[in-house]
Amino acid sequence: MLKKDTEVQVCDARDDDRITIVDHIKIKHMKKWLFALMMVFVINTIAQDAKMKTFVDGVMKKMTLDEKIGQLNLITPGWGIPTGSVVSTDVEKKIKEGKVGGLFGVIGVDKIKQAQKLCMDNSRLKIPLIFGSDVIHGYKTTVPIPLGLSASWDMKLIERSAREAAIEATADGLCWTFSPMVDIARDPRWGRISEGAGEDPYLGSQIAKAMVKGYQGDDLSKNNTMMACVKHFALYGASEAGRDYNTTDMSRVRMYNEYLPPYKAAIEAGVGSVMSSFNEIDGIPATGNKWLLTDLLRTQWGFKGFVVSDYTSVNEMIAHGVGDLQTVSAMSLRAGLDMDMVGEGFLTTTKKSLTEGKVTQKQIDDACRRILEAKYKLGLFEDPFRYISEERMKQEVLTAERKKASREIAAHTFVLLKNNNQALPLKKSGTIGLIGPLANDKSNMLGTWAVSGDPQMSIPVLDGMKSVGGPGVNILYAKGANISDDTLFAKKVNVFGTRIDIDKRSPAEMLTEALNVANQSDVIVAVVGEASEMTGEAASRTDITIPESQKLLIMALSKTGKPLILVVMTGRPLALTEENEYATSMLVTWHAGIEAGNAIADVLFGNYNPSGKLSATFPRNLGQVPIYYNHKNTGRPSAPNSPKFQSNYLDVPNTPLFPFGYGLSYTTFSYGDISISKTNAKGNEKITASITVTNNGKFDGEEVVQLYIRDVVGSITRPLKELKGFQKISLKAGESKTVSFSISPENLKFYNYNLKYDWEPGEFHIMIGGNSNDVKLAKVNWVK
Ligand code: BGC
Repeated sequence: MLKKDTEVQVCDARDDDRITIVDHIKIKHMKKWLFALMMVFVINTIAQDAKMKTFVDGVMKKMTLDEKIGQLNLITPGWGIPTGSVVSTDVEKKIKEGKVGGLFGVIGVDKIKQAQKLCMDNSRLKIPLIFGSDVIHGYKTTVPIPLGLSASWDMKLIERSAREAAIEATADGLCWTFSPMVDIARDPRWGRISEGAGEDPYLGSQIAKAMVKGYQGDDLSKNNTMMACVKHFALYGASEAGRDYNTTDMSRVRMYNEYLPPYKAAIEAGVGSVMSSFNEIDGIPATGNKWLLTDLLRTQWGFKGFVVSDYTSVNEMIAHGVGDLQTVSAMSLRAGLDMDMVGEGFLTTTKKSLTEGKVTQKQIDDACRRILEAKYKLGLFEDPFRYISEERMKQEVLTAERKKASREIAAHTFVLLKNNNQALPLKKSGTIGLIGPLANDKSNMLGTWAVSGDPQMSIPVLDGMKSVGGPGVNILYAKGANISDDTLFAKKVNVFGTRIDIDKRSPAEMLTEALNVANQSDVIVAVVGEASEMTGEAASRTDITIPESQKLLIMALSKTGKPLILVVMTGRPLALTEENEYATSMLVTWHAGIEAGNAIADVLFGNYNPSGKLSATFPRNLGQVPIYYNHKNTGRPSAPNSPKFQSNYLDVPNTPLFPFGYGLSYTTFSYGDISISKTNAKGNEKITASITVTNNGKFDGEEVVQLYIRDVVGSITRPLKELKGFQKISLKAGESKTVSFSISPENLKFYNYNLKYDWEPGEFHIMIGGNSNDVKLAKVNWVK
């Protein structure tokens, strides 16, 4: 093994030394070619933009003021699943009169065809409609919720999940998705943490890029790519107290360094549209915030696409207290909002605002132009029915291959939190007691925001266990408990259908049955956690533990003395302190999508070795929230043994139960020391930090090697560590690999007090490890 390591390193070193004159000439030529290619690309883009401008100018010349305002109107007829509290009226009439720019919440190629035809046959200028939807984690073939996807730390896989979703959704008539949601969230009370990529700006930015690329591909006009919409702009994840739609307030320094990067990454990746958020920023609701939608988004970041409001978020500015419908609509248009979702404030008040000088003709024209440009880029003017093909729908929707892909993707997202006595993987023999309210459940597998998925098509864990375990395993099943016994709570969770099914039997009866099963089994697998709609929109909780009904079950099962494997389904980081005491092993599977049961069984039986890592901290209890790995030091940093006057709690340590980046495998990985190419660096040079990772166990596996950097002294205080890179590698049992990260001043930059993005010279700690808490350290001094 040692020999192999040395070989890898020597080989790396030789490669560097051997740059000959011939290589130099080749590199020079390559650079010339690259430059020429870039020039061709730039010239081509300019020519295409000019062509688009001429076309859109031509259309706009023919448009009346009413027709222009009509393009700014996005409505939902409620023919699919409404995602807000109101739906639009007189939809057909408005389409015919040219008062609609786009529709969403219309699911199915036949309905979309019908609506587009209505528009093309009846409206005066026959400007095609754009069709959007919340294609959030897969379309009909759902994949795990986004928080789960992010735990894969696998950008190719995430891009693939978006690509598959785009192919399937466009085959069913859609051309625009309200995804990715990239709101940084550090508060697990907030139900929408399930829809994003967790707490870290760097990981979140990589995921934002991968998703935009997956949806949009390299050409938006292809009939299997769709326009992405990055949301919710901005800072929505920082809602106070984790309560949905709530106020956010933070310093600009925090905003730029910690919350804005993923939105910016999506813009840089070429996202076609942006959705404004419900919250206020600096006292002004995001939807009407000019600093946000114009100064930052367009002037500073150069965004060229269009901005749509969130569901009635223009109208909601009335309740925020900044004016009546006409005032808030005019304010939003002036701020840079182009399309009004559902509220129709733009439709009903803009003309009056123009007459009264509250908005200008140019503001209306700019918004209209951006919508028309999006339609042009999607190829809708060329062929309004481009995405509408029953044949493609039959070929692409819910295919066996796509389900297989969903199963593979899901297995990569599970995080193994604990595995005492190597209780996992399970043997394909003996008796397994499969217990718990989520063990034989279909309704909660898809997860929140699966508006086009059919829960009844999903695979429950019981079915997956039987098929993957095969004939050698005897599986006994008992429900054991309700997800929650609280009927009022269940009623609120069950708005889209029954997710919490309160059994007719009493909790005591169910428990007796479960213990009976447990006592006959060699091992217990308890499938517990949250119902799918216990997270998502308007699904915040002030208690982030597993509901009491299930806690009692878990405790009782642990008393049997049998190995207790907990499969935890959740849409948020949970406080699992008690469960951690009772369980032998814990596997977090999120809400894993249509193939959930199969994917979970694949991992439990060891057909796939888990490789997920947490993208959000799992606290010990709610009192620690907000808790995140990239925090700052105080003047009195934590000193666990000090009795007083340090930044500690009296009752629990400051550390989380499971840190960011954490996740076990059925094998074990050990890390050597960091070897660094230079400990003193200057200016723009690059250094390389390498580490050797060894698989010491008996299973082949994958490991996410994580690079963190600390800027020890800054002109403003800096986080104790920040993720700056990661690589997911595969290692066969017994194998070692050396992983190298190239670090340049680009990785050291941050926004300073004056919001200038730059790096400052000094000492940097380079840390590499398998999670944010467990790292090796090397130091570098970097001067300008
Ligand atoms: C949500 C958005 C969603 C929109 C349309 C809103 O309630 O906040 O995330 O895209 O509805 O369904």
